This record gives sequence, C-alpha cells and structure tokens, in this order.
Amino acid sequence: MKRIVIASGNKGKIKEIKELLKDFEIVPYTELIKPVEIEETGKTFKENAVIKAESIRKYLPDEIILADDSGISVPILGGIPGIYSARFAGEEASDKDNLYKLINELKANNINKTPAYYTAAIALATPYGVFTTHGFMRGYVIDEARGDKGFGYDPMFIPKGFNKTLGELDENIKKEISHRSKALNLAKIILKTI
Ligand code: IMP
Repeated sequence: MKRIVIASGNKGKIKEIKELLKDFEIVPYTELIKPVEIEETGKTFKENAVIKAESIRKYLPDEIILADDSGISVPILGGIPGIYSARFAGEEASDKDNLYKLINELKANNINKTPAYYTAAIALATPYGVFTTHGFMRGYVIDEARGDKGFGYDPMFIPKGFNKTLGELDENIKKEISHRSKALNLAKIILKTI
C-alpha cells in the first residue's frame, strides 16, 4: 500500500482524506516528525498548499506529502475572505468568529444573498515532482447562520441546486459535492499514476 504523509495535524481533515483515499496508507506528518511552524505566505490557495507540502518534504524527502489549502470567496465583496478564510477575524479567531464577521460584512453592504464559492487546492510534493489539483463548490452566502452541521462558513452557504445551507443539509450530500472531495478525487488519479 502506497504511503501518503499528510502535511496537517487537523483531525477532521485527516479523517476526510482517509475516507476518500481508501487505497492508501494515510499518516499525519506529526506521527513522523516534530510539529513544523509553517508560514502561509502565498498569494493563492495553490501557493499555500505547495508551501505546506514542501515545508514537510524537506524533512521527509523520500515520502509523498499531501497538503491542502481551502477557503470561501465572495466575488461581490472583492473575493473576501479567500485565502484569509481561516484567519478572517484575526490569527486566533474561531470558526464562529469568522462566520459572523462574514455575515456582518454582508449586512453592512445590505446584501441578503449573493454568489460565493469554496476552493480547495491540493499539493502533492513527491520524489517525482510537485503536482497540484483544485476543486470548487459554487453556491450562495446568506446574511444569517442556519443549522449546525459542517464547520466554518457552512451555516451561511447554500450550494447551487439546493435551498438549504450546508449547516442544514445531510453531511453525505456535502461529501459528494464538496470542493475538497473534487480536488482529492483528482489527486487520487495522480497518486495512482506516479
Ligand atoms: P485551511 O485549514 O488553511 O485550509 O483553512 C480553511 C478555512 O477555510 C477553514 O478554517 C474554514 O474557515 C474555511 N473552509 C474551508 N473549507 C470549508 C468547508 O468545507 N466548510 C466551511 N468552511 C471551510
């Protein structure tokens, strides 16, 4: 079984990756080396995913390292919070702080509902080179939080073709349509090929 080292210690992400990449042995990098301080200085999701993957590969050069970077963008507000999704309300902000900051931005601009999309970039740093994939989930954000499923901005996000937020919809639906699933499915093709 090919081994993939995940450049994240986040349990939720690792669980999702394990479910989608069933044919591979998935190991969080923190089981192999000490936690590494990584500065996300990229200007895009892709650059940040590559920075994370290469930072870990420096210590584990013979391994295949998988990193991801993701977030939500609201075009009418210039694409915010975008790559700053995780730290929108500050470096120490919680998911809830970030969610309500975006809701308040909509309210301040008198917007009840507007198009938005999630992006996930996956980087694979391997002994054969660096590969990247993307996945997107399009929909709308609304100026209130509904439901408590999912995480992050999910209670204010209505995927295209639905009339409920990801906070209200069954989590299996999200698994099928999510930006991360799409990017990981493409990454799977590369992982099976190399
Ligand atoms: P990352 O861990 O640097 O990739 O940060 C991702 C951030 O984007 C999270 O903290 C969330 O705020 C947001 N995000 C990414 N994917 C999702 C999702 O599927 N649902 C809700 N929020 C998400």
